[in-house]
Amino acid sequence: MRRYSAFAIVREAARHHLGWERAWASPSPKARYDAVIVGAGGHGLATAYYLGKNHGITNLAVIEKGWLGGGNTGRNTTIIRSNYLQDPSAAIYEKSRSLYETMSQDLNYNVMFSPRGVMMLAQTEHEVRGYRRTAHANALQGVATEFIAPERVRELCPIINIDGPRYPVLGALWQPRGGTARHDAVAWGYARACSAMGMDIIQQCEVTGVQSTNGKVTGVRTTKGDIATGKLGIVVAGHSGVLAEMAGFRLPVESVALQALVSEPIKPCMDVVVMANTVHGYMSQSDKGEMVIGGGADGYNNYTQRGSFHHIEETVRALIETFPMISRLKMLRQWGGIVDMTGDRSPILSKTPLEGCFINCGWGTGGFKAIPGSGWGFAELMAKGHSPLTAAFGLERFREGRFVDESVAAGVAH
Ligand SMILES: Cc1cc2nc3c(=O)[nH]c(=O)nc-3n(C[C@H](O)[C@H](O)[C@H](O)COP(=O)(O)OP(=O)(O)OC[C@H]3O[C@@H](n4cnc5c(N)ncnc54)[C@H](O)[C@@H]3O)c2cc1C
Repeated sequence: MRRYSAFAIVREAARHHLGWERAWASPSPKARYDAVIVGAGGHGLATAYYLGKNHGITNLAVIEKGWLGGGNTGRNTTIIRSNYLQDPSAAIYEKSRSLYETMSQDLNYNVMFSPRGVMMLAQTEHEVRGYRRTAHANALQGVATEFIAPERVRELCPIINIDGPRYPVLGALWQPRGGTARHDAVAWGYARACSAMGMDIIQQCEVTGVQSTNGKVTGVRTTKGDIATGKLGIVVAGHSGVLAEMAGFRLPVESVALQALVSEPIKPCMDVVVMANTVHGYMSQSDKGEMVIGGGADGYNNYTQRGSFHHIEETVRALIETFPMISRLKMLRQWGGIVDMTGDRSPILSKTPLEGCFINCGWGTGGFKAIPGSGWGFAELMAKGHSPLTAAFGLERFREGRFVDESVAAGVAH
């Protein structure tokens, strides 16, 4: 694989851009692989990448029923932060955030990581107390956050209405090295690097069954034929329950639609990410100038990948209260993804009752930020059978009552 560089751009410009290679190969599946990952979202591809890079497992296939990055990875609002409350969460999200800092260099692919800062507004006394507590916890965890006063909020983001009619801004939890990245590029960058290591990324290929003998996984049935493997990673976000059923176990997750929308592009007016969880809405400005707006999750389980109209209305109404200047903006596009949520709002990275079969799911409304850290930890779990990053996120915690409660830090009303 040729390296992308400024020199390569100049060279290709001189020959009308006819010399670029395909970023990744599109092979037919082989009969057997050392490891198979189901799901070519960010988490599946990152797992494959770190299995190759950190553990030398490259005879591997990533199987995707649609197109790579076409699930939640290509549908999210790209917020990256690590200001979670519990130690195991802070560890995996901070590992992830720090990997984002060097991802473009590591993958030789510009993922446009923009550490512009993320603020979570406190608009009730309860939120003030909660975010102060998180800031203290983050200080002990080595995660750089601080609780800032309303004046500082105004300085950082002048378009916020600090004295909102219902919920004035009382302060904010501020993470200066949080930010955003280009979501498709994260999937594409990992896919290109995996393909360069000799892995097979097989798109338009649905897994329809999991095969096993004597309690051990032996392969998967797909729409392109059976594939044998002794190591299976299920990384399918909103379809985790469906795949778990194929593998013969149940998961404590619910799938719901979560939606987002963008406005028409406008001149730069906001260079931080703002989350307003009390009124419920979050917003950042893309490089194109569009205001990227995150909405709420549906209040009932579904696989629609659409979202409903009343959520758009509620989200926009809430944001107009916080950012009155957006009231004249036209909204351009709206879309939804299917997110998989656990009761404690923390992910599951775990062995399963089927030997050789591992599951990575439950990232809910906040897994984009976790892609590299999750891939790193889940690859270690699949390769070695344990990982310090994933130890607290096993399935057994639901049986034993050892929840990693992040229902507040998850930041989205659900
Ligand atoms: C509207 C919205 C906004 C969000 N905003 C943020 C945010 O700002 N910050 C943040 O951190 N997170 C956010 N998230 C959450 C984040 O997008 C997800 O947690 C993350 O992308 C999950 O990645 P994944 O790789 O696990 O899943 P996905 O990207 O969904 O990938 C799973 C893949 O599995 C494939 N698959 C499913 N079934 C099968 C099968 N049977 N066979 C083969 N392939 C299969 C799917 O086609 C899909 O491509 C948001 C999500 C949504 C929907």
